[in-house]
Amino acid sequence: MLKLEEKEFLLNSIRVIYDYPQPGIIFRDITTLINNKQAFSLTINHLKERYIGYNLDFIAGIESRGFIFGTALAYALNIGFVPIRKKGKLPYTTISEKYALEYGFSEIEIHIDAFKDTQKEIPNVLLIDDLIATGGTALAAANLIKQAGAQCVESCFIINLKDLQGAKAMRERTQVYSLLDL
Ligand code: AMP
Repeated sequence: MLKLEEKEFLLNSIRVIYDYPQPGIIFRDITTLINNKQAFSLTINHLKERYIGYNLDFIAGIESRGFIFGTALAYALNIGFVPIRKKGKLPYTTISEKYALEYGFSEIEIHIDAFKDTQKEIPNVLLIDDLIATGGTALAAANLIKQAGAQCVESCFIINLKDLQGAKAMRERTQVYSLLDL
């Protein structure tokens, strides 16, 4: 568990930008967490401690900020990393999933054979992203993990924007862990 003062330290390391990328949005900028060596190592060390006993086979990270935390954690746990990317970015055969945004739709993809490099029939996967808001992106990513033949044993976010109810929706699908609930 993170101590209260550690949570406060992490929260203070995240820059808040009002009305970005559009009016009304309070953007949580994690670039100021990752360029702070104490905050970044606290985050990754804490997650390593949490997940070391989970018997994970892979971490799947959502483009693009999920790549930052996901690859550092995968390296710390000595397991592989799988990117879930925006449509059209992955070069090999993909599975894709459309999901609703506040306005319109978006689409994310995973390589069809992303989880094949393991002895296990159904590999254990941790899904990671920097932030969960409405949960649309994370739910679509969990669907992709399942369709690619793996089990999403937990989803992990640095920040959970509670009022937007995404974590609540995600909990019907898989376990959810967040470091900071705002
Ligand atoms: P959602 O699908 O609504 O849960 O949105 C989650 C995705 O959008 C994540 O990849 C976040 O990085 C990004 N995102 C949504 N809202 C914010 C916010 N207020 N600040 C920073 N990133 C956000």
